[in-house]
Amino acid sequence: MEQKKGRRVILFPLPFQGHINPTLELANILHSKGFSIAIIYTNFNSLNPSTLNPHFTYHSIPVDFTENEASIKDPTLQLSVLNAKCVEPFRECLAGLLSDDVNSKDPIACLISDPIFDFTRSVAESFKLPRIVLRTGGAASFAVYAAFPLLKDKGYLPIPDSRLEEPVTELSPIKVKDLPRMPDCDPEDFYRLITNMANEPKASHGLIFNTFEDLEGQALATLRREYYPNIPIFSLGPFHKCGPTTSSSSTSLQSQDQSCISWLNTQAPKSVAYVSFGSVAKINQAQFLEVAWGLANSGQPFLWVIRPGLVQESDWLKMLPNGFLEALKERAHVVKWAPQKEVLAHPAVGVFWTHCGWNSTLESICEGVPMICTPCFSDQMVDARFVSDVWKVGLQLEHGIERGEVERTIRRLMVEKEGEEIKERALKLMEKANLSLKEGGSSYQSLDGLVNHILSL
Ligand code: UDP
Repeated sequence: MEQKKGRRVILFPLPFQGHINPTLELANILHSKGFSIAIIYTNFNSLNPSTLNPHFTYHSIPVDFTENEASIKDPTLQLSVLNAKCVEPFRECLAGLLSDDVNSKDPIACLISDPIFDFTRSVAESFKLPRIVLRTGGAASFAVYAAFPLLKDKGYLPIPDSRLEEPVTELSPIKVKDLPRMPDCDPEDFYRLITNMANEPKASHGLIFNTFEDLEGQALATLRREYYPNIPIFSLGPFHKCGPTTSSSSTSLQSQDQSCISWLNTQAPKSVAYVSFGSVAKINQAQFLEVAWGLANSGQPFLWVIRPGLVQESDWLKMLPNGFLEALKERAHVVKWAPQKEVLAHPAVGVFWTHCGWNSTLESICEGVPMICTPCFSDQMVDARFVSDVWKVGLQLEHGIERGEVERTIRRLMVEKEGEEIKERALKLMEKANLSLKEGGSSYQSLDGLVNHILSL
């Protein structure tokens, strides 16, 4: 821990797992640099402070949904209701923190908030509190979001179904089918949410990404040059490898099944396919069966996270043929939620079949684990294109989930020569991630830059 900086930073994560993890990791990093930390969190998807860093202060705000609001399926609508419900409780909470601040030894330097929480701008401005935006997704996908108005002008949005395989020439190597979209929501509402989010950093004191220059240097340069020339952009990831060791179990909203690790201990090195589609993505019943049969037919051992709610409207166990899992007992392990970072770091894991949420993508890169990509929505499609076509550290299931293609793809990666080459590239990329964090590396320097920037506010 560095010498105390005498300043406090307030962080306010969007209450979803993929946003909570990196925000709290960033809090740990800043704390290790000598800042005091205050975390504001909602009672929706509430954090459990008793499992979190004991050196921070935690401030819960109430967002009570009515029954109707709680059952909203449309994600953009859900977010706009969440935003509306947060404004006043957030304002009150911030007012309380700022009034206590008057005689504080560690005066508040700034707020760090998610660009989806757009109301944090006006509230922070009303208190003259500087705000820095933390985007928890990747820089390349954010550059695609920032280009939404251009994409609309050029006729790529709403996404034309007849042109899905065409390249988006302005955003190579993105194809039309990779453009972010959201199931169960109106494309116009999604467009508004995204353009709003991409505008947020413009009125802020800086933009932070959980990425590193060797991974997304080009996208970061585009963002700096074309979209946000007036604010500093920091790229100091991968966060989870940058701060002091922080157990991922502490930030998990669900309890992690540690039986994964003892099961992996019984498996041969690099033999296991780890399968997880993150905390939000859903698959339908037909896709679920294709996953199950593809895994079974691949002949490889597999560790599969079937989170409650992953399979739409069904009890997944009842969908499998009688005795399906029992027959695979020796080489299959199914859990509701895994300690994912530990799993990916385990020597038995050879491949990660992922939905390409940004955290999962980075966590896989950090362990040199090749990926099979099944992106489901929003930025995941862009991440998957970069995994398969730019960094070439994985293969994408280009035609959806079909058991034959699943089986072939697992074998291509785990058994065939092609897989060895992909694995080599994955290890090189892992090395680059490590180097970026070492003294003199790009993320190391960017963190220094961020610390000085916060102290200057
Ligand atoms: N995660 C986990 N256990 C699981 C599945 C996921 O701990 O069984 C964690 C994972 O390590 C990552 C986060 O949940 O940090 C998911 O974030 P991501 O951006 O990959 O996807 P999202 O859930 O936001 O779609």
